[in-house]
Amino acid sequence: MKKITIAIDGFSSTGKSTLAKQLADWLDYIYVDTGAMYRAVTLFAMQKGFIEDARVDQGALENALKDISIDFKKNESTGVAEVFLNGINVEKQIRTLEVSALVSPVAAISAVRIKLVSQQQKLGQNKGVVMDGRDIATVVFPEAELKIFLDASAPTRAERRYKELIANGDEVSLEDVLANVVERDHIDSTRKDSPLVKAKDAIAIDNSHMNLEDQFHVILQLAKDRIAGRI
Ligand code: C5P
Repeated sequence: MKKITIAIDGFSSTGKSTLAKQLADWLDYIYVDTGAMYRAVTLFAMQKGFIEDARVDQGALENALKDISIDFKKNESTGVAEVFLNGINVEKQIRTLEVSALVSPVAAISAVRIKLVSQQQKLGQNKGVVMDGRDIATVVFPEAELKIFLDASAPTRAERRYKELIANGDEVSLEDVLANVVERDHIDSTRKDSPLVKAKDAIAIDNSHMNLEDQFHVILQLAKDRIAGRI
């Protein structure tokens, strides 16, 4: 059967990765969480002391980019791909609010984007991929056959992320999570390089009042139609 590329972009905590994983599982496609890659670079910069008082030493990070290797490996017991930074599983560490608070300035650095976009294009070069992020439909795969742009109200998104963090054992407040979501959206949509915008031919979906199952079925049908060449 014909394989396509599915690009899912949108604001923070709109459920992009949940949807992308569901689609990839159903279609037996590769799933790539590009946010995890920017988070891994951020963790690296934190570990190396390149970030002080929320300011990133851009020169130092750019010089060290060649020393960063990011891989995804499937956790056999959960079936979910986890992120490895220089051979070490950092899946849990990259999801903390500390990393979330610093990732957007790191992701605004062009040299970081060039490195990660090139890796993402290689991962998806044979199609049969669902990739989620902020610039997938506009920069990474502008020719993707199916482009989805997800949105939801900021309080809804903050609440979803808050529940995830609490479930992970993080002691965070809903106010801090909401502030982070709003701040990241602002930086991500106003940066010079590859800002978060809806691609002209992307289908916009606001899932504030949609349950996961309904959303999945709507988008799976779109994917099936594109694969069959119906639309
Ligand atoms: O998707 P997630 O919320 O994990 O992404 C974390 C951050 O990584 C985003 O807020 C954004 O700054 C950056 N990002 C990006 N481009 C992507 C994916 C994520 O700039 N394709």
